[in-house]
Amino acid sequence: MTTWTGQKRPRLEAAQQRRRTGRDGATISVKPIRIFGDPVLRTPADPVTDFDAELRRLVKDLTDTMLDAPGVGLAAPQIGVGLRVFTYHVDDQLGHLINPSLDLSPDEETDDEGCLSFPGLVFPVERAYGVVAKGFNMHGEPVTLEGSGHLARCVQHETDHLDGVLFIDRLDPVARKLAMKEIREAQWWGEPALQVKISPHRTWGKAF
Ligand SMILES: [Zn+2]
Repeated sequence: MTTWTGQKRPRLEAAQQRRRTGRDGATISVKPIRIFGDPVLRTPADPVTDFDAELRRLVKDLTDTMLDAPGVGLAAPQIGVGLRVFTYHVDDQLGHLINPSLDLSPDEETDDEGCLSFPGLVFPVERAYGVVAKGFNMHGEPVTLEGSGHLARCVQHETDHLDGVLFIDRLDPVARKLAMKEIREAQWWGEPALQVKISPHRTWGKAF
């Protein structure tokens, strides 16, 4: 048991506590986001088998980190966890999906797409316009997520992450070559971890 003789330390602790809490007073847990070049982003993730407290903590970590970035989607490998889990926050719809399997519509759409693991960069990517995603919630209950446009794009992008596939892999060879040039010129290229927070302005609403 430690006793405090002055008021200094308790005040310091109160200040630290504020930094760890969100606007609603709940504790938030923001994890470092892995950047392109980290092998975890190229490693296929394992299916979730235990729907336990650790899994619920992972969903919370992903949600807090995604909202802080800010991003519209985040997959577990992006915070270094090799499990088939992602979160999304598209058009005020906030949720998560575990062990997803996708049914894609035949019609496709090309739109600008970014990725939190490629800070500040956006490339036009062709994706299926609609998707029906089946999976589970963190309590192990089966759920179906159906969406089109932005939500469908997010679900496809995040499920790709779970397979070790990155959005630059979806570009045609010429566009991919140009994208790699931009990536090599990015200030974060070759860094083991992102040191500075990139302005989210350019990728606002488009970083998955
Ligand atoms: Zn991504």
